[in-house]
Amino acid sequence: MEFKKSQKLYKKGLINLVGAVNSPVRAFSSVGGNPLFIKKAKGSKITDVDNNTYIDLVLSYGPMILGHRHKKVQKAITKALKNGYSFGASTENEIKLAKIVCDAFPGMDKVRFVNSGTEAVLSGIRLARAFTGKDKIIKFAGCYHGHQDALLVAAGSGLATLSLPGSKGVPEGAVENTLIATYNDLESVKAHFEAHDDIAGVILEPIAGNMGVVVPYTNFLKELKTYLESKGALLIVDEVMTGFRSKFGGAQELLGVTADITCLGKVIGGGFPVGAYGARNEIMQEVAPLGGMYQAGTLSGNPIAMAGGIATLTELKRQNPYDKFNETAQVIEEFLLNSANKYKVDVTVNRFGSMVNPFFTNVTVTNFEQAQTSDTKKFATFFWAMIKNGVFLPPSQFEAWFLASALTKKDLKKIAKAIDKAMEAVSKM
Ligand SMILES: *Cc1c(COP(=O)(O)O)cnc(C)c1O
Repeated sequence: MEFKKSQKLYKKGLINLVGAVNSPVRAFSSVGGNPLFIKKAKGSKITDVDNNTYIDLVLSYGPMILGHRHKKVQKAITKALKNGYSFGASTENEIKLAKIVCDAFPGMDKVRFVNSGTEAVLSGIRLARAFTGKDKIIKFAGCYHGHQDALLVAAGSGLATLSLPGSKGVPEGAVENTLIATYNDLESVKAHFEAHDDIAGVILEPIAGNMGVVVPYTNFLKELKTYLESKGALLIVDEVMTGFRSKFGGAQELLGVTADITCLGKVIGGGFPVGAYGARNEIMQEVAPLGGMYQAGTLSGNPIAMAGGIATLTELKRQNPYDKFNETAQVIEEFLLNSANKYKVDVTVNRFGSMVNPFFTNVTVTNFEQAQTSDTKKFATFFWAMIKNGVFLPPSQFEAWFLASALTKKDLKKIAKAIDKAMEAVSKM
């Protein structure tokens, strides 16, 4: 397998782009080597500029849940393109996508579309503060909520991979109202409420995917919600990754919890830049033009993006692939555990719905500290062996692998073979 053209583009890219990438997770910092440049993708496969084709378990970090270039999505956006790209005024498709979203999430009477997950969460946080009149927000170590200043502390994947404690350029004042708790530990939340009386709410990934996959214990979210209600604080569920992925109604549907404020992104745009935040009417009443919380966007509700979102979600609802995702993830877990056993490599596998990944550790992983016991050098070896055997993974130990409904039985066989080869390579380190 050759990467000559990717290498060449990487060198060229370094001149006018930062690290030749537009998001640090795409750099291969933690696995060594240089990033691959992609030429095209179709269905479950992705092809780089050297014409190497891989089964894609990155899926643009989640959005491409149907696989790449699904016929119905392509048709919808091609049709939308003919009418214009952006108007700065309302279109009917915004209403259609809003209805699909509000029907899927019982806690959302109204929704506001934005252009990214980061924007969705920063607006959701502002809304929680506007509604409660309180300033402090609790987040969990290892959860990532986009790159806004206030939440860029103890923020999982990208930062964990680069071993940054937070980020340069974030003033202390921006994080002084952010409190950090431990995932799966309600007591750590309660301790903050005992010390502070101005907490607006708690934000979390309902199933964490940005420290690798970390699953909440059975009633964690329910207990958290009940406790927050008793304190008059809001539950802000960041479903940017899990929305329409864990279930059509997100992790909330699966876990039997209704958020006060829900943030969405990734799958909702089917590969186009769409984010959203929403809540019940009483809370959304705060948002301008109805209320005094300002939030705006020149390209928000972009007609091409709305068409992509509607087509993706409509097809997703029709396919209802969630049971199949679960079965497929279980099969991948078995591949990983069986080959780890065969080659005597310490591996813990976490999975939930269509998100799965191995940690190279013998520790059970239920929080960020435990996730960090993983041997990232072993992951790097594993990663490159998977690439060489035709499977594209996120280039970080602390990212989930994502499944698409386009994945075939044949793909699974190839994944099994690649895992066996990759685990063997790890055992020889
Ligand atoms: C990806 C992600 C974000 C940020 O979304 P962007 O579209 O990258 O800004 C926020 N929260 C979670 C849980 C995510 O996975």
